[in-house]
Amino acid sequence: MTLLSLASVTASYGASQALFGVDLDIREGEVVALLGRNGMGKTTTVKAICRMIPASGSMQFAGQDLMLLPSHRAARLGIGLVPEGRRCFRDLTVAENLICAARPGEWGQAEVETLFPRLAERRGQRAATLSGGEQQMLAIGRALMTNPRLLILDEATEGLAPVIRQEIWAAVARLKSASGLALLVIDKTLKELKAVADRAVVLERGRTVWTGPIAELTPDLSTRYVGV
Ligand code: ATP
Repeated sequence: MTLLSLASVTASYGASQALFGVDLDIREGEVVALLGRNGMGKTTTVKAICRMIPASGSMQFAGQDLMLLPSHRAARLGIGLVPEGRRCFRDLTVAENLICAARPGEWGQAEVETLFPRLAERRGQRAATLSGGEQQMLAIGRALMTNPRLLILDEATEGLAPVIRQEIWAAVARLKSASGLALLVIDKTLKELKAVADRAVVLERGRTVWTGPIAELTPDLSTRYVGV
């Protein structure tokens, strides 16, 4: 069943239009990679889905018209966002950060700590004192604590050491296999994305220009649209 469906979505920052026609579908339990070079509209698409900027066109989530909802209602419908820049409450402890995001469902503090054992080790530590990788794990943990049906990861491995990136990718793979969660993943590392994603949607200048099974994204297409 289709969980999220965007058709001909446009969006602007004030007078400056950034999206010109984004089409994107995600089925329940599916992992979709949102690809494109820098500045092509990936983060703006995420902001439109989360109702953080005004948008036009059609956006449906779990049978509801997203266009009619303010952002706090969109989150309550089951969209969990891990935004670029891994925002956590710096002065709260790891446990407090998790608990204050909690909503009923299968994901609680214990499940998040099983996914990221480092967070259990750092439970009483202030978020500000965590490493960048640990903060990213906490940001993912906070989004999972909301018990979303769709988890959106925007550049979750950006700027992290290779060993930490591997931990994040391993967690994404576990999320895919162990839960029915759908994922929308934005990342610059195509190789790792190809290992977890089912399909890809490619944006160019604010438009969807290619969509299909990620295995069919040939080196030619990758060079053309993603620059790798
Ligand atoms: P990156 O990989 O660099 O994060 P992206 O594909 O996520 O790129 P967006 O951040 O969505 O791209 O940007 C799409 C367009 O919107 C770009 O032209 C960008 O300059 C513009 N843009 C992004 N944020 C703003 C903003 N707050 N105000 C005005 N224009 C913006």
